[in-house]
Amino acid sequence: MTQYSLLLVDMDGVIWRGGIYVVKNIKALRMLQEKYKVVFMTNNSSLTRAECLERIKAVGINSEINDIYTSSVLAATYIEKRGLGRTFVVGEAGIYEELIVRGIPIVSEGPKVDYVIVGIDKYLTYNKLSKAAYYIMNGAVFIATNEDPTYPVGDRLEPGAGAIVNFIKTVVGREPDFVAGKPNTWILDIVVNKYKLKKEEVLVIGDSLHTDVPMGCRYGVDTLLVLTGVTSERELAYAKTKPTYVARDLLEALTSKII
Ligand SMILES: [Mg+2]
Repeated sequence: MTQYSLLLVDMDGVIWRGGIYVVKNIKALRMLQEKYKVVFMTNNSSLTRAECLERIKAVGINSEINDIYTSSVLAATYIEKRGLGRTFVVGEAGIYEELIVRGIPIVSEGPKVDYVIVGIDKYLTYNKLSKAAYYIMNGAVFIATNEDPTYPVGDRLEPGAGAIVNFIKTVVGREPDFVAGKPNTWILDIVVNKYKLKKEEVLVIGDSLHTDVPMGCRYGVDTLLVLTGVTSERELAYAKTKPTYVARDLLEALTSKII
């Protein structure tokens, strides 16, 4: 019997790796759902929550739209809390959807732009980057969905949102005002308050020593690292920030009674 009541589960590298499902983790999650509240998160801002939900449900994991937190959800929530304003987007459907849902005006041209959100954008152009930087230099709030330099697609790494954010950072000569996704602990604050939990009741499950584990450590909740995604055992051996638990996959975590 563990002390946890809520599992905050990363999707990329845990449920799927690019387009390939991680079957052992899925089997375990289906069992874990009977015992724990499970909330899902991803730094990937390109997918809408509905798309994430569809991919999760397709393999028999139950969830609902409000239990899915993408970095787009967090970025749009930040604007909602700070005050709606004209927003320019470097990104894909996941960001647009969350802005539309909240009635945040989306603009493709100036002159007045209050926020610039920068996320992964596979339709990126020089023109978009140029506009984004210009608006930031003219006073728009600079929001990054996340700063992951790469993300795994099959067995290769492709440039992530961090590469795009860095381009703009170089132009404007400063850091983003807000980075919505992991390792920012903001999502933990939201979830802990929403479900009225103590920190001891939350377990973060993820595959990254750069996002999931430091987020959990900074916030003061336990972390379980699974080796089904971006982290190798070798990398783990050299890591400065260690997770509370490590398992090859979630089935192993179940058999060894970690959860
Ligand atoms: Mg991951």
